[in-house]
Amino acid sequence: MLFERKILVVEDNEINRAALCVILSSQYTVLEAENGAQALSLLEKYREGISLILLDIVMPVMDGYTFLKHLKADHRLNSIPVIVTTSNNSEVDEVAALSNGATDFITKPYRAQVILQRAAGIIHLRETSVLIHQIQYDRVTGVYSKEYFCQQVRDILFRNPDVKYDILCSDIEDFKLINDTFGMDAGDRLLRQVAELCTQRLGDHGICGRLNADQFACLLEHREDYADEMFTQSDSRINSGFGDLNVIIKYGIYTVEDREVSVEQMCDRALLAANNIKGKYGKHFALYDDKLRGALLRRQAITDGMETALATGQFEVYLQPKYQIRDGRLTGAEALVRWNHPKWGLQPPAEFIPIFERNGFITKLDQYVWERVCSLMQEWDKSGYPSINISVNVSRIDIYNTNLVDFLTGLMQRYGLSPSRLHLEITESAYTDTSRQLIETMGALRRQGFMIEMDDFGSGYSSLNMLTEMPIDVLKLDMKFIQTEITRPTGQGILRFILDLARWMKLSVVAEGVETQEQLERLQNAGCDYAQGYYFAKPMPVENFVSILTAQALAANIENSRSACSAGRLDRALLVADEDEEYRAHVHRTFTDCFKVLEAASCEEAVGILGRHPYQISAVILSLTIQGGADILTAIQKERSAWKTPCVATGPLDMELERNAMELGATDYATKPHDQESLRRRVLRAMSTHTLQVRMRSLQDEACRDTMTGLLNCRGLYTITESLWHESSSVVCLFELDDLKKFNEKYGYVEGDHLILHFASLLRAHTQVDDVLVRLGGDEFLAVMYNIRSMKVAHMKEMAILRAYNESRYVDPDSVSCFAGTVLWNAEEPLDEIIGRAREILYAAKASGKEEYFLQKG
Ligand code: C2E
Ligand code: CA
Ligand code: CA
Repeated sequence: MLFERKILVVEDNEINRAALCVILSSQYTVLEAENGAQALSLLEKYREGISLILLDIVMPVMDGYTFLKHLKADHRLNSIPVIVTTSNNSEVDEVAALSNGATDFITKPYRAQVILQRAAGIIHLRETSVLIHQIQYDRVTGVYSKEYFCQQVRDILFRNPDVKYDILCSDIEDFKLINDTFGMDAGDRLLRQVAELCTQRLGDHGICGRLNADQFACLLEHREDYADEMFTQSDSRINSGFGDLNVIIKYGIYTVEDREVSVEQMCDRALLAANNIKGKYGKHFALYDDKLRGALLRRQAITDGMETALATGQFEVYLQPKYQIRDGRLTGAEALVRWNHPKWGLQPPAEFIPIFERNGFITKLDQYVWERVCSLMQEWDKSGYPSINISVNVSRIDIYNTNLVDFLTGLMQRYGLSPSRLHLEITESAYTDTSRQLIETMGALRRQGFMIEMDDFGSGYSSLNMLTEMPIDVLKLDMKFIQTEITRPTGQGILRFILDLARWMKLSVVAEGVETQEQLERLQNAGCDYAQGYYFAKPMPVENFVSILTAQALAANIENSRSACSAGRLDRALLVADEDEEYRAHVHRTFTDCFKVLEAASCEEAVGILGRHPYQISAVILSLTIQGGADILTAIQKERSAWKTPCVATGPLDMELERNAMELGATDYATKPHDQESLRRRVLRAMSTHTLQVRMRSLQDEACRDTMTGLLNCRGLYTITESLWHESSSVVCLFELDDLKKFNEKYGYVEGDHLILHFASLLRAHTQVDDVLVRLGGDEFLAVMYNIRSMKVAHMKEMAILRAYNESRYVDPDSVSCFAGTVLWNAEEPLDEIIGRAREILYAAKASGKEEYFLQKG
């Protein structure tokens, strides 16, 4: 037998001993001792490993009674049962044996069957009672075990239907940290103290059990007067035994109202209440009430809805720009997830992320976010945006996902991106358990080229040790640190210290949560590298970020052209085609710092230069009074229709000439004479507009275009709004196809779609390529038209479109008429307001009925 039970035979008579051995050894391992003293030393060795002792009373050295006295005094041994062997059938001896603590007695001569049966019975009894004790009581603290506590509570509630009770649960904050820092023994000591205090305070008025690790539960009669002092007293008593360590215990109370709820659930609720005040300084207890219940139901709703939300695209990635402090350059962004909930609206992550971290869903969500980020970077690379990096958040449990490294490297391959483009932000608290797996995984990712950022550095868990052990590239200073510490004198010192340390460790430093100029300046003075925060921008939808990126790209273009000049690399050319030599010389001087200026005095010369420099001419300044000037414009349009060179036409104050030029595709018209600075601005502006158009064309992003007409959609409009070049000469014209619904019902949706397509192409035909055309909604269209200076011209434009529409085959007096509202747009007004005004005019037109309104106006 593998675990044979041991019986200790204590007997000085060798023959008796041998007899007992023979009987017992058929089923047990027998240990022998000649007297009490020998027996005690064997017990020292085997302790509770001995299942039973057979004890003679009369022995030399130490007799049986003395031995029993020692045995019973030792708490480790006193539960071992003892059978006393007596030689005569004396009642006195039997009573003496039992009163000295023996369990039973047998008389000599020994009968094998009787002895074996008694031994088996007693051993079984003892083992059962040990088991029961183990089940009922917690080994470490001696209070009830969870199961027994719950059973007792059920009994008490059942037996006292009229008494109102509370379940009070306690939870020690950061117990794991205490265990890790001070060792398991200290942890156990703390638990025993908590248990002792609970039992003491409860007295006969309640019961106490240990639910698990650091959580205890008590049942006590209901009271209304819970107050913080009750708990702070207990806390300080516990703390007095633990020196410097500040133990914080949170208590949660659930009043038993509904006895149908299981005891386990009651405890859960009390614990949830306690959990709710974790980390909240000065709050010692919390009641489980309706408010909390509401919060828990919401938590449940979050869990219930998460899978569908992911499957139906309700999670949206927002981006918060990150800037280089030195020069204010945009260097990247952090991806922050939002939940666009169909009922609750846009939800920030503070509530749902912790829930997902607990239920494991975070891994799925994070993978989704990472993939979305990669696909954005790929798209931007293709469109020629500056290549920035994006930081994503990595939850602690993502790290324990065995194939994290494979997943991420696979992603980068799939999207053709270098891993250094993806920065992995790992929250500092994840580093507290510096497990081998964490270090290894981080190391492996870093070797693959990913940038590892330690997020929330300085939020509380930091240890410098950790820094040296962890494979990281970037320190991200916690927001709280930025917002509180650095304005204090001591904080400044700490900041400088951290930055010195970071530099020494070759880490770069990002400050997050920068909200004020003052904070930024302090960071700048201390030599911090990057900053992120509301001071610059809040997290924003991808479209808005793209606008910033576009602006950055434009700025970079102009900057490049400047720096290219200063570096002497004149790889950008500007063509000035003008019959006036003096004018050409002026232009030459104006642009010589930015461009290689090419001059043409005639149409032939200009066309020749354009032909020789197919793609390097950044802009053309073209005199319309040069012979064949219009032909040059046409040539530019035709030859490079896809990459049309921006062209600023020049000429006298002549509306007809100007209109002509614009119709032929000039980007702008500068009336002569003009000063050179204004020309310079026009040229740079024309180039920006041009770059914007190139970008717009490459904005293949489906999301920005209306799929049916190919015009921009609402989102597209707002994407480019930021980069629209506002000027006093633009016009915003809003159109509505009235009663499209009726038309659809009458002629069917296919015909309805044709009508919409037709209107879109009409708009295209009547506007310039630079103009912005948008399908705002099902039946609403918007045109932003440039270079229209007067309301009169604007109305003519509008009329032309309406007239063309009225002449088309779609017009049916009973169904669809088209209305318009037009306003001039000056640089100051926000686009939204302008659209609003256009809409008011449109509605007025509608109200006053029919197209005549416009015809009269025209
Ligand atoms: P975090 O990683 O520390 O992100 C920074 C948080 O600070 C963001 O909150 C951001 O909006 C906010 N913030 C940025 N600048 C400022 C500022 O100047 N002032 C103030 N007051 N706040 C600023 P958000 O977006 O609510 O995210 C909260 C936390 O949720 C994040 O903290 C991060 O831990 C987590 N999180 C967000 N998105 C994800 C995700 O996709 N995956 C994972 N695992 N966690 C995420
Ligand atoms: Ca972060
Ligand atoms: Ca952070």
